[in-house]
Amino acid sequence: MNILVLNCGSSSLKFQIIETDLELIEKGADRELCRGLIERIGSEALITFKVEGKSPFKSTAPLRDHKVALHYIIKWLTSDETSIPGIKSLEDIHAIGHRTVHGGERFKKSVRIDNDVITGMEDNIELAPLHNPANLKGIYAAREVFGPSVPQVGIFDTSFHSTMPEEAYLYGIPYQYYRRYKIRKYGFHGTSHRYIAYRYRLLTGKSREETNIITLHLGNGASACAIKHGKSIDTTMGFTPLEGLMMGTRCGDIDPTIIDFLMHKEGASVEEVFNILNKRSGILGISGLTNDMRDLEVEIMEHKDRRAQLAIDMFCYKIKKYIGSYMAAMNGADAICFSAGIGENAPEVREKCCADLEFFGIKIDKKLNDKMIRGKEGIISTADSKIPVYVIPTNEELVLARDTCRVVLNAPVV
Ligand code: AMP
Repeated sequence: MNILVLNCGSSSLKFQIIETDLELIEKGADRELCRGLIERIGSEALITFKVEGKSPFKSTAPLRDHKVALHYIIKWLTSDETSIPGIKSLEDIHAIGHRTVHGGERFKKSVRIDNDVITGMEDNIELAPLHNPANLKGIYAAREVFGPSVPQVGIFDTSFHSTMPEEAYLYGIPYQYYRRYKIRKYGFHGTSHRYIAYRYRLLTGKSREETNIITLHLGNGASACAIKHGKSIDTTMGFTPLEGLMMGTRCGDIDPTIIDFLMHKEGASVEEVFNILNKRSGILGISGLTNDMRDLEVEIMEHKDRRAQLAIDMFCYKIKKYIGSYMAAMNGADAICFSAGIGENAPEVREKCCADLEFFGIKIDKKLNDKMIRGKEGIISTADSKIPVYVIPTNEELVLARDTCRVVLNAPVV
């Protein structure tokens, strides 16, 4: 099956086409055929498409909305110049998988999208007002473009965390607000944490039951997850992705009274303060320079910038605190796994997060750590480290494609 995987933002659309089926999943032989990104939908859009083994196609075009963007993709996909084996027309796309941010309490697994599911997702808009409407735009557009005969599947960022126990997902506020408004920790990046746990099982030959690990998805958005017996039992992001670790532009955990205090001091509205906490805080807010880890490292190397260093120190310190906290929550872990842009590419960050954790028996091998970059997968701890530390490059699109395939074929989604 050729699965079109879509990740729609309010003005962006990321896609991949992945060839997969149950046999290919079993053999781990599913294959990416092409990928692409369209940004600035609604004005002169920026387009970058890439077929494996060929140089990228880059262009701009006035794309009014997600539907027009999808038509543009299909035209490119099926053109003679693009020539992707097995893709000649619209009929060669057999199913569509949508990355969907918020499944609320209803969607605990990936599901085939029908009218009832769409209504459920619309009901969740108030939980994720930034993300869910954008995901829905992609679903409406794909329905119109592909018609009802092409199955569509929703894969939710929150689903993997639906196994968290009450004591982890409830906040210490009056219980009635959970009952009335479903205010609780949902957690995000679930697709990534789930993929990392799956790769860990493949690398070690362990069963799901034996999988007791701490996964660290460290990208521009960042979260940690405590995985016990293969299930998420706690994670750092909460009711929204703002909670938890310090991130590229998000503040992570703060005392909630800061919001009210800042509103008074700055004469700011609640929206303005949340804009500060979401878009102007974190690594960007502390360094005053950038939210990009690579640029920070350059600043430190070239100018010994103190606040750039402070931003990295804080980023790592907060990760380390959660490692300790999840060790306690799980009565110890069998491994720590780093992933995503920073986790896969910044050895100094990994080293700092794991420094002075001999107490837990964690020791990083500097040489292995320095080598494990740019998509490499493997162990970065010393042979005598009591707890092995891994770098595992994430692949959320693969999970989306496989779930789509399984849901369409009525195979169990695991
Ligand atoms: P993601 O959100 O997973 O795409 O990750 C984006 C983050 O990864 C940004 O902060 C990037 O600066 C960071 N990143 C990517 N490559 C590197 C690298 N070689 N060294 C340090 N950070 C990197």
